Amino acid sequence: MTRLRIAVQSKGRLSEGGMDLLKRCGLRFAYGRDKLHQSAENMPVDLMLVRDDDIPNFVASGACDYGIVGENVLKEEQLAGRRAKELEVALRLGFATCTLKLAAPKGGEITSIQDLAGKAIATSYPAITDAYLRERGVVSEIVEMHGSVEVAPRLNIAAAICDLVSSGATLEANGLGAFETVLNSEAVMIRPAQNRDPAKDEIASILMRRAQGVIASAQTKYIMMNAPVDRLEAIKALLPGAEAPTVAQIAGRDDVVALHAVCRERVFWETLEALEAEGARAILVLPIEKMLA
Ligand code: ATP
Ligand code: ZN
Repeated sequence: MTRLRIAVQSKGRLSEGGMDLLKRCGLRFAYGRDKLHQSAENMPVDLMLVRDDDIPNFVASGACDYGIVGENVLKEEQLAGRRAKELEVALRLGFATCTLKLAAPKGGEITSIQDLAGKAIATSYPAITDAYLRERGVVSEIVEMHGSVEVAPRLNIAAAICDLVSSGATLEANGLGAFETVLNSEAVMIRPAQNRDPAKDEIASILMRRAQGVIASAQTKYIMMNAPVDRLEAIKALLPGAEAPTVAQIAGRDDVVALHAVCRERVFWETLEALEAEGARAILVLPIEKMLA
């Protein structure tokens, strides 16, 4: 029988997020056994656990059918002109979000990309960095590093760096300041753009439809409250990304109704406080576990 083979990072940020997503899509894996392969017990899906940098190649060469990888790695492989050029993004996965940024020592002479002309830049993403600067007419020397890029300026290896940033704490700790965003990245599901096996695509489409539901529900909340009838319109207007809410009678009350809504955007404390100020009471925000839109 046909089985779909997906390449997933063996350990690291993409591994945790990727396995978590696949499990939420209903895939069940037996514990342990093999370090390189894992087979789902309840769907025709196998995982191949590898280094994330190898994933575009695994998919482009046909060793795997689909792969979960950061856009940063996909783009680097594509710009480096390897086989990955023939890959496409099948689904954006909404986790492992990070930004590739140019940064230099704070208070130093580099504050914009023009200042990088003729300077050395340390990065794990040489192709992306080079292409970005060239497109803007800046010619710099790219120094390829595969770890601890943030120490390069202090060691005089480079004048600036181009590195992944999520919170910015690492830059801060190394006295660096970011001055330019090169790429916004998140985890994506990739596949060859052409010549795919239709039977495998069918398995993949079931999985991706579930994944879309999981991704959407992670950001979506179910909100319930009692609302005074005369403030109903004002209260509805406060609900973030809600489609037509349900309004229900409360037994024995004609001044207050029950209001239920699915909010497709994050619900902040500020929103709840604003609802309360409009007279809403007994406000509940509930997570949504699964969703088929
Ligand atoms: P390996 O190459 O051994 O598989 P790695 O060191 O490349 O591991 P991680 O550090 O887990 O692996 O990063 C994997 C991906 O996670 C990155 O390519 C990027 O897409 C994403 N990511 C999200 N936030 C960050 C961050 N703050 N720093 C680095 N990567 C991040
Ligand atoms: Zn890697």
